[in-house]
Amino acid sequence: MPIAVVRAERYYMPPPREPKDVWDDVPAAERVFKWIEYRMGRRVVVPEGPAEQTYFARINQNRWLVDCVCGSAQIGAPTDPRAGCTECGLGWCMVIYPDDVVTVEAEMMQQPLPHLRNWWHADDPKNPVPPVIVGEQ
Ligand SMILES: [Zn+2]
Repeated sequence: MPIAVVRAERYYMPPPREPKDVWDDVPAAERVFKWIEYRMGRRVVVPEGPAEQTYFARINQNRWLVDCVCGSAQIGAPTDPRAGCTECGLGWCMVIYPDDVVTVEAEMMQQPLPHLRNWWHADDPKNPVPPVIVGEQ
């Protein structure tokens, strides 16, 4: 079975000494805060309010990734399109995913080597290879 594209729910898992489902009630975008606390041994504050920024999610080496304006990044959750930063503390930013996440993930699965699975949203200004639209020149 091929390796699936990694989402926050599968990446940010509880410590092995705890039941696998102990974080199931934690919203997907908030799991990173619990994970940082146990992995890094430091307290992080879950943002309380929204922030102005909107980010485009991308796939980087088989992981949904959300880049913060501070330079930090985290694994994204298409089922919970928000991102709060554990580094700079920026509030909840909206994250733009493709309209059809499942289709993009299926396209990525065509590449058998997970580290070569990379994808950018067509509207993302940081997209290094914007799509060429036939007939438009
Ligand atoms: Zn940040």
